[in-house]
Amino acid sequence: MRIAEIYRSVQGEGALTGVTSTFVRASGCNLRCWFCDTPHASWRPEGEDLSVAEILGRIALLDCSHVVLTGGEPMLFAEMIPLCEGIHAAGRHITIETAGTLYLPLACDLMSISPKMSNSAPAMDDYPRWHRRHEQTRTAPDVIRRLTEEHAYQFKFVIDRPADAEEALRYLERFPQIDRTSVFMMPQGAEQCELETTGKWLQPWCDQHQLQFGPRRQIEWYGAVRGT
Ligand code: SF4
Repeated sequence: MRIAEIYRSVQGEGALTGVTSTFVRASGCNLRCWFCDTPHASWRPEGEDLSVAEILGRIALLDCSHVVLTGGEPMLFAEMIPLCEGIHAAGRHITIETAGTLYLPLACDLMSISPKMSNSAPAMDDYPRWHRRHEQTRTAPDVIRRLTEEHAYQFKFVIDRPADAEEALRYLERFPQIDRTSVFMMPQGAEQCELETTGKWLQPWCDQHQLQFGPRRQIEWYGAVRGT
């Protein structure tokens, strides 16, 4: 499996914000969000091919109780199944960061699902093939149902404008089984000032709708810096 990077940092998003974790970033994605903050694992996938045993060895060296399997889209890779088994056998907590379009039968303590809304599509004029594929692929209701039935979960939506927040609400209406207290609305942006501008209306909007506001603390702590 191609791995873009393995590093130790602090989780900046969702329910485990503040928890020191080892991040394993699989390289490759079935989507192409225009705002992707890890293009080295999607638009221009890079990294080295590592065996499951090699990845487990690097995780052991970093020695964190929590491991985040992210991407790209980690659920693209069947090697995730033995990798999760190995991480669990070592007694570590597993979070998987996924867009929720692909299913694998694997061990996981927190399925962290970031569904992609219509605001994520790449420009049709510049990327017509990827635009079509992205729009055909980004919503997979059966996968969402299965992942939420089988795992503890959280949802994270990336929000730019009020219309995006309203679209996320309509999305949630399709899945009444989703626990709203596990839903985070996160401002889109690579700069702290962008996050703060969106946060000014998004935070009270979240309060109004009994959803969590997710400030994306890693941008505040480190900036949009690779390996953090
Ligand atoms: S799904 Fe995630 S990794 Fe893939 S292109 Fe979108 S933001 Fe990037």
